[in-house]
Amino acid sequence: MENTPLPAFSPPTTFSHGDRIWRATGDKLAVRIVLVDNTETANRIASAHGAQAFARQLLGESISASLLLASGLKGPGTIQLRFSLSGDISRVAADATPMGLVRAMIPQEDLSRTGNFEPMLLPQMLTVSKLDRDGQRIAEGIVEMESADISQSVTHYLRQSEQGKAWLRATSVCDTPTGERLHFSGGFLIEGFPGLLEAGWKAIETTAQGLDVAAYALPGGGLDLHALFNQFAAHFPAQIHQEFKVESYCPCTEDGVLRAMAGLGRDELLSILMEGQDTEVFCEFCRRRYAILPEQIGALLDGLEPDEELP
Ligand SMILES: [Zn+2]
Repeated sequence: MENTPLPAFSPPTTFSHGDRIWRATGDKLAVRIVLVDNTETANRIASAHGAQAFARQLLGESISASLLLASGLKGPGTIQLRFSLSGDISRVAADATPMGLVRAMIPQEDLSRTGNFEPMLLPQMLTVSKLDRDGQRIAEGIVEMESADISQSVTHYLRQSEQGKAWLRATSVCDTPTGERLHFSGGFLIEGFPGLLEAGWKAIETTAQGLDVAAYALPGGGLDLHALFNQFAAHFPAQIHQEFKVESYCPCTEDGVLRAMAGLGRDELLSILMEGQDTEVFCEFCRRRYAILPEQIGALLDGLEPDEELP
């Protein structure tokens, strides 16, 4: 897992373009600002899923939101966002680490139903889980989604569940109506620390509300994070102190796929074995294909306890 942070932060004039996260804190105001451009990564992930247009934007926005939330983790770990919806798309999931690794998915059947049409979406619930470095769940928060909008839902979560002064904006826009590519995908998060006074927060919130991420899109694609950051820094001086690369990463393995298959139960595994062919399994996050051999299914069956439900 090659994703070490840059050893030292370079001066603003040498900032490279490309997918990255910046973390900044206010000089005087007790506030932190996180900015992210994840355009290329979101395009790569969405292309692996064959997601177009609105669905591609939805993936992009959930990727930005997960990266921004993960930046608040105290140590190594993962943030998992699960947006459950009803309508043409049933769920959107995104996992990210504080170091900028991310994966995301929308179920394949939802994507093939939606194509490049704008889906009908009814918001349901947003579940946010925090996992430690070993994948153990250390916290979980569930809020009702007030709308199908990713930014609104995550901001609502931050205010409800973590009772903080927070504002998150994640915006992704395709460059054509058919939506084969995101022109940009990214956003920002501002959070007030406990010492921040109400008046100070109001001023920051007003600045955030007035910002249109689309105004910082670069002609060739991606976001001008520098200009976006300056917009904040003009209102309240702040310093960027960390930069991380954003990269798509999925920790799935053949062992993990086999463990998940064991959960299908004896009957289901027997019927797969009966077909006598290699079984194709795709990771629902990265779409990596695993070919499971009949003898591997057999080994799974050998390892299973006799099915208790059988008479
Ligand atoms: Zn995977």
